[in-house]
Amino acid sequence: MTTTAEWLDRAAQLAPRNELFIDGRSVPAASGQTFDDIAGRDGSVITRVAQGDTEDVDRAVGASRAAFDDGRWARQTPADRKRVLLRLAELVRTNLDELALLESLDVGKPIRDTLAVDVPSCATTLQWYAETIDKTYGEVGPTGPDALSLVTREPIGVVAAIVPWNYPLIISAWKLGPALAAGNSVVLKPASQSPLSALRLAELASEARLPDGVLNVVTGPGAVIGNALARHPGVDKIAFTGSTEVGKSLLRAVGDSDVKAISLELGGKSPQVVLADVADLDAAASAIGWGIFYNSGQTCNAGSRLVVHRSLREELVGRIAELGARLAPGEPLDPRTRLGAIVDDRQLAKVLGYIDLGREEGARIVAGGARAREDSGGYFIPPTIIDGVDNAMRVAREEIFGPVLTVTEFEDEADAIRIANDSPFGLAAGLWTRDVNRAHRLSRSIRAGIVWVNTFDAADITVPFGGFKQSGFGRDKSLHALDGYTQLKTTWFDLSG
Ligand code: NAD
Repeated sequence: MTTTAEWLDRAAQLAPRNELFIDGRSVPAASGQTFDDIAGRDGSVITRVAQGDTEDVDRAVGASRAAFDDGRWARQTPADRKRVLLRLAELVRTNLDELALLESLDVGKPIRDTLAVDVPSCATTLQWYAETIDKTYGEVGPTGPDALSLVTREPIGVVAAIVPWNYPLIISAWKLGPALAAGNSVVLKPASQSPLSALRLAELASEARLPDGVLNVVTGPGAVIGNALARHPGVDKIAFTGSTEVGKSLLRAVGDSDVKAISLELGGKSPQVVLADVADLDAAASAIGWGIFYNSGQTCNAGSRLVVHRSLREELVGRIAELGARLAPGEPLDPRTRLGAIVDDRQLAKVLGYIDLGREEGARIVAGGARAREDSGGYFIPPTIIDGVDNAMRVAREEIFGPVLTVTEFEDEADAIRIANDSPFGLAAGLWTRDVNRAHRLSRSIRAGIVWVNTFDAADITVPFGGFKQSGFGRDKSLHALDGYTQLKTTWFDLSG
């Protein structure tokens, strides 16, 4: 196994790609400007990255548009397109160490997770969608003997994929996989906190012989680039994952400009509903703990609200706190570290602010609650539990996006479901009970895009992912994601003559 010293040494040798990727080449921003890309693990500057602006958006959209309009990708045979995407998936696998290191440096994720989860999951997603390319059929409409009506699926055109910093490779692959499989061109806009893996991925796509211009990457400030993409007449679809606030602003921009397609995967405040008849309290404590502490709580579907039956609250909270105490944050490049850093100083201040707010609102901090490892220069927060939370408090209603679990107790089942649903969000939920009838009934009452029963965060590329309510609309993953990157065409032939 590679040691911490070896990873640190590799990090020091790394020369990350830091320019925009447009029309198959790395290029500086038109303005020549750059911005500091900061490592969450120690606050150091990893590299200076090209700071794109509207002129660069024009260049990238122009390259994507030209690539789409001349059919250099969309009109290749399905078998050829499949080969390219399979090669890309393979290149992601062969560059595992480098991609994992870039992701850990940028986001502060433990290297054990980027090696075991982020990079392999990105490769699996790309491979899975590659394999759909020559297995997707059109339809013939039942329109009678005098007509032949074909219903075909066509790519939408130029897709702008705007992605967040918490799972850069995974979420980029959720967009790129179906978008490229369907024959679209893409402008990928990574978050400013985490641009490095996207830039390397684009280069690998070229190496896999994806034609120039089919995948472009523009880095720089979200408000400038995201907004320019949403208003650009050359873009046909916005595929966004990020905060609800920015999602709303993109809806406005699209509405004010042209009627382009848009899908929004937004924030969450997912409840973990634990009924008195839970079968295995230890298993629940472990899944609930990992469901909020993994990735330092920077997960859209994190189970951040524990909604627990009064009879179990003390016992369950105690067991989750024990797990939390074993997960002290550590150096992300140490292969033994299971809890890494918070992405940047802004997010650190936001999470600490919510912990203070919990105190002010009258709740009790029963685990964690203060910054850790400050000497490292990095941004670390230990597993934190806020007990005695009323669901009306802001700490229970707003997305904290850190390793912070709130605890609210209930008396009866109806109360539990009311509290679970009393949220502007509806991304995910956990439900813990040994009674299978009850599990079926209650899972139907929970308004969320995914309900896990007696487990949490179990995932597979074959099932859709996305939210209800202000967690957005549209779905990533599974065959359903292809619907978001294609449009249906009816072609009617008159056979009566
Ligand atoms: P964010 O909304 O701040 O940024 C997301 C992306 O949008 C980034 O690329 C950013 O540069 C860009 N952006 C920022 N301001 C913009 C603007 N005004 N106009 C257009 N684009 C803009 O989100 P974040 O902080 O990067 O990520 C965390 C958020 O993402 C959380 O709310 C989390 O729940 C959500 N998220 C959702 C899912 C999901 O599938 N539902 C998955 C992961 C993260």
